[in-house]
Amino acid sequence: MIDVALSLRNVSFAYDGRGPAVSNVSFDVAQGEFLCLLGPSGCGKTTCLRIAAGLNRLTDGEVCLGQSLVAARNKHLAPERRSVGLMFQDFALFPHMNVRANVAFGKGRDADIEGLLIQLDLAPLAGALPHELSGGQQQRVALARALAAKPDILLLDEPFSGLDPSLRAKVRDDTLHIIKESGTTALMVTHDPDEALFMADRLAVMREGEIVQMGAPNDLFFHPESAFVAQFFGETNLLPGTVDQGWVVTDLGRLRQTTLPHKSKLDVLIRPEGLNLCQLKGPGMASVEVEASRQLGRQSMIHMALATGHGNLHLHCKMEGQFLPEPGERFGLGVNPDLVYVFEAKGKN
Ligand code: ATP
Repeated sequence: MIDVALSLRNVSFAYDGRGPAVSNVSFDVAQGEFLCLLGPSGCGKTTCLRIAAGLNRLTDGEVCLGQSLVAARNKHLAPERRSVGLMFQDFALFPHMNVRANVAFGKGRDADIEGLLIQLDLAPLAGALPHELSGGQQQRVALARALAAKPDILLLDEPFSGLDPSLRAKVRDDTLHIIKESGTTALMVTHDPDEALFMADRLAVMREGEIVQMGAPNDLFFHPESAFVAQFFGETNLLPGTVDQGWVVTDLGRLRQTTLPHKSKLDVLIRPEGLNLCQLKGPGMASVEVEASRQLGRQSMIHMALATGHGNLHLHCKMEGQFLPEPGERFGLGVNPDLVYVFEAKGKN
């Protein structure tokens, strides 16, 4: 049986005089697991974290840490009595205390502060004050401080958002390895899908106070259950489609099979990296005209027009390496069915 470190059951919460910020949210974080709450600004991620920490008092539902009920409608264990470590984006270090004192603050004598300072590469900085440290070093001090109490779960709220992009990749890599090596259970909030895919064992995508899909990063990326989740993980091309005898049919041809009913109207989403410009082969192949092309680092982005019976469709294609065709050139278009997501159309089609 998997041991559960944190469990939220049907949790709801509303700030004074406001509509629900979180509605009927349920999830478990297993011992040693790294779970990310992911979603756009204002969808309720931070509120869930604050409820888990005890900083907000839930309106409905239950929170358990391990086997212990810590919050319910008529129960609220204070934050300092919950074994949770907190790491927020401002790091909240004490400015007048040096690194060692910040990490040791409020910890018992048995806390291995020196060991942690060495593990996080902070030993040479132990006597420095926070303002003498870089953003990445401050982040490591905050992590060391949170881990020093050996919390049952570490709660992280956008912990890398204050760092510049070049530093962010390194710091989050270091953070992930330290958390994993120490066997710490973690719940992290982020609005950045790349960050979530990089860090998480499992993801919960939130929208307007609710969890809309949970699963392994791979599952959410390749098997989104809604256009919202598909679009959240990166740009998509949107085409209208219909079902014909079990096939998804669009202006790009028959793309893949589906179990949706015959003649259903579809929203078909295709990732730019799921389209591939190739030589035009025969009249059955969709033909596109290049409008512009740009080098985006190691990939090329090609803007294209696809002529359809209802006007031109503008599509984006991303290809590996340097491939910069001129405007006006014509190509055939191949489609990778693994990067095609199909949903019953919401609007008119
Ligand atoms: P972000 O990524 O921008 O931090 P979030 O997904 O973490 O967003 P929350 O901070 O949980 O979202 O906010 C959820 C909703 O609750 C939002 O509509 C927000 O405006 C509202 N809210 C958050 N904090 C308060 C507060 N202290 N008082 C009133 N409303 C609040």
